[in-house]
Amino acid sequence: MTGGRFEGRVAVVTGAGNGLGRGSALRLSQEGARVVAVDIDEAAARRTAAELPGEAVAVAADVADEEATARWDAAAVAAFGRVDLYHLNAGIFGTFAPLPELTVEEFDRVQAVNVRGQFLGLRAAFRRFRAQGGGGAIVLTASIASLTGSADLLAYQTSKHATLGLLRGAALYGGPIGVRVNAVAPGIVPTDLFAAAAGTVGGKNDMERRASTTPLRRAGTPADIAAVTAFLLSEDAAYITGQVVSADGGASVVNTVRP
Ligand code: NAD
Repeated sequence: MTGGRFEGRVAVVTGAGNGLGRGSALRLSQEGARVVAVDIDEAAARRTAAELPGEAVAVAADVADEEATARWDAAAVAAFGRVDLYHLNAGIFGTFAPLPELTVEEFDRVQAVNVRGQFLGLRAAFRRFRAQGGGGAIVLTASIASLTGSADLLAYQTSKHATLGLLRGAALYGGPIGVRVNAVAPGIVPTDLFAAAAGTVGGKNDMERRASTTPLRRAGTPADIAAVTAFLLSEDAAYITGQVVSADGGASVVNTVRP
């Protein structure tokens, strides 16, 4: 399928080489966007760009690196002349660790990619929209860990709670100048990140058990999340900004405090 809601639009997707970013790039491309696939893994970014049905370029960049931000912005403009849509999705999970065991290095590493990376992406997006003299739309990838807590996931959930701070500040700044900013909060989606997490909490079966206890009784797919991202980036969401939309099979509304 080509054509659709993003015909004539240019979309930057970070972390586009795998998982949810790849799914998002695919969906946006299927609906007509020209895509800039940004990933720290150059081969993965190239693979995604090559498999999209529409025009796409791959850019190797670390979203946590301030200098790299200018590089992927310049690459997007060189390829397509402008950017209209951003999915700031790249993120890492870190490791499960009880609070007394969590190292400063691990804490900082996760914040650098997940928080500084999304801040730099937002700043680049707003600077681009300003240079273009117009608005646009941005989606941040949050998480069920933006809304809930876990005793051994401090670094990751701190970073994903920070996503909501970035979201609200950016939405309030962007509203009056025609920029909408929203977030999608996935639950469990089997991706490389998910597999790495599973490896630190008893393996695949534990994650399968978690997925089977969500209200919708299954894990999510990258396509489930991409559908929400595409909606939020589209004109169908023209009156929505500053919102976090959970796409988690209902997991975030379960009250576990019951007899
Ligand atoms: P993934 O590991 O499958 O893919 C992440 C991609 O981001 C990879 O291609 C990786 O190379 C890239 N990346 C990592 N660090 C980067 C950096 N510094 N700069 C540029 N690219 C970088 O992970 P995923 O599951 O697709 O996760 C994507 C986002 O979704 C993350 O923000 C994650 O926190 C969030 N999320 C995932 C789940 C899940 O269950 N999979 C749930 C909630 C939230």
